Amino acid sequence: EAQTPQAVTGGFAPAPIITATSIKVNVSLPEAAKRAAATGADGVGLLRIEHLILGLGKTPGWFIRNKKEDEFINELYTGIKTVMDEFNGKPVWVRTLDAPTDEFRNMKGGEDEPDEHNPMLGWRGIRRDLQSRDQFRLQVEAFKKLWDAGYDNLGIMFPLVGHPDEFIAAKEMMREFGVDVDNRTLGIMIEIPSSAILVEDFIKAGINFASFGTNDLIQYTLAIDRNNQNVAEMYNPKHPAVLKLIKYAIERCRMGGVECSICGQAGSDPEMVKWLIETGITSVSANIDAVPKIRETAAKTELKMILDAARRN
Ligand code: PEP
Ligand code: MG
Repeated sequence: EAQTPQAVTGGFAPAPIITATSIKVNVSLPEAAKRAAATGADGVGLLRIEHLILGLGKTPGWFIRNKKEDEFINELYTGIKTVMDEFNGKPVWVRTLDAPTDEFRNMKGGEDEPDEHNPMLGWRGIRRDLQSRDQFRLQVEAFKKLWDAGYDNLGIMFPLVGHPDEFIAAKEMMREFGVDVDNRTLGIMIEIPSSAILVEDFIKAGINFASFGTNDLIQYTLAIDRNNQNVAEMYNPKHPAVLKLIKYAIERCRMGGVECSICGQAGSDPEMVKWLIETGITSVSANIDAVPKIRETAAKTELKMILDAARRN
């Protein structure tokens, strides 16, 4: 006898909430991939690979010097693949390595890392990859393996980009490493004020998407160390200067037809997400636990916007 859905579920299964805004999830470790996918998120808006790499206990330079490049590439490939396999073709934006040098210094190869006075403003993100060609190449080799295996939904996101020339240079390096860059999804994080201010130039340079890294954008806009308890009260995601930068970039992305998202902590705050959607953001990536609430916030915000627009006519 055929069973009704009610008999199977013990009642009516709740209908999934559909939103026009894409609600994605942030993932830091492959172990969290299943839980992240179970939220029903529309993809991964930030896959941080530094945890995977720091977990190896050796710096990228160590793998290169000891001729163990394949080991590094395979670890990275396998870790990213584990996440992608849970998301069935939905977009997954992998962020290139973004660890400050102090996090590498106490591991094998760490003696070769620069001893920086202020690592958060130093040799990290895209800056490090542009200067350390081999380290960047190893990451790109892992991405290439995924693309070659048919994971076309893999997108690459560059952190700590402050000038369009950096994006252009990274893209050119990827081309040299054998990537068909014109047919791949490449984007930037907006987490330095300069990249929000120059967003139109980034669009001209060919970014496919931009995502606000508000954790850093707030600290660099307000000159407030995100990890310093003495000034923690002044660390305000809703500071008018931060909101102005974000609004400016969202509007220009919309005019330029570029997908605009957020992957900083502010994307897990319902009040902030309401404002972001009203301002025109098309995608939000939240922490795993926040996804249901953010989906609900998006649905309510969208409905209100539709009704407001209809009633204005
Ligand atoms: C950010 O800066 O908002 C971000 C998502 O990156 P991270 O927190 O890893 O610096
Ligand atoms: Mg950041």
